[in-house]
Amino acid sequence: MSTAIVRIVSELRSIVAAWRREGLRVAVVPTMGALHEGHLSLVRAALAKADRVIVTLFVNPKQFNNADDLAAYPRTEHDDAAKLASVGAHILYAPDAADMYPQGFATQVSVAGVSEGLCGAFRPGHFDGVATVVTKLLLQSGADLAFFGEKDFQQLHVVRRLVRDLDIPIEIIAGPTVREADGLAMSSRNARLSLAERRTAPRLAEILVQTVDRLRSGEAVEGVLSEARQKILTAGFSNVEYLELRANDDLAPIGRLDRPARLLVAAWLGQTRLIDNVEVTLPKCAAAVLQQAAA
Ligand code: AMP
Repeated sequence: MSTAIVRIVSELRSIVAAWRREGLRVAVVPTMGALHEGHLSLVRAALAKADRVIVTLFVNPKQFNNADDLAAYPRTEHDDAAKLASVGAHILYAPDAADMYPQGFATQVSVAGVSEGLCGAFRPGHFDGVATVVTKLLLQSGADLAFFGEKDFQQLHVVRRLVRDLDIPIEIIAGPTVREADGLAMSSRNARLSLAERRTAPRLAEILVQTVDRLRSGEAVEGVLSEARQKILTAGFSNVEYLELRANDDLAPIGRLDRPARLLVAAWLGQTRLIDNVEVTLPKCAAAVLQQAAA
């Protein structure tokens, strides 16, 4: 099967309207292209739940707070289309920036709370750009379901919040982070790592997992996190922007592991910024005690 490439929103809308007349369920998977297994896992999940799947490919200038990062972002539309055809996506929607943001474009979607802190603190304007483009893509596609990766955990929360707040009639479904065999979270930016950096990169996930074990064994959060920050630097990362424990359901900062949590990190390896996160479930005995206390 080939995947049709659509660039104009009116064309996308008429295709989706025809699908709807046939009673088909439609899913959308927003991406910035340079597709890897992480993206394709979301496409497969979408194909399992919907009759038709639209994958969007748009390198959104509004979410890059660094011009060099935008210029260096990989653009591989031809290969992306081939990968999508091989998994069976129905449409690749790849609009031009001039159509997404025509002369006079003046609206911004800004999500307070969950956009603040973590990546929001280090990438000013990033989540406003994400929220604005995701709102447009969800409304343009008119899909029933939209798929996002847990790899970008804060982004997932931003999207869930804006969909609720703006009453966008779409269900948001999260997919787990897909990793390389050595544990490195797949990312389009991994292609920028030198060979030596690529060998160091998996240490980030490894340290996260070790840190989760220590947290779950009941050690004090702040001490464990500051040792982990040091380990990341010793492994060869040049800077740890943040390593934080947050509540899994609303990203609230937490000082002790008394609810299901997430450990999130952003760190620089040479010129490349890597992010990752892992779930921190409560140890069974703590969960039982908390449940009893709540009863
Ligand atoms: P991006 O192209 O980086 O904007 O990512 C598009 C979508 O793919 C987002 O929902 C990401 O969270 C998701 N994604 C990126 N990398 C991964 C991964 N390694 N595993 C699962 N989902 C991912």
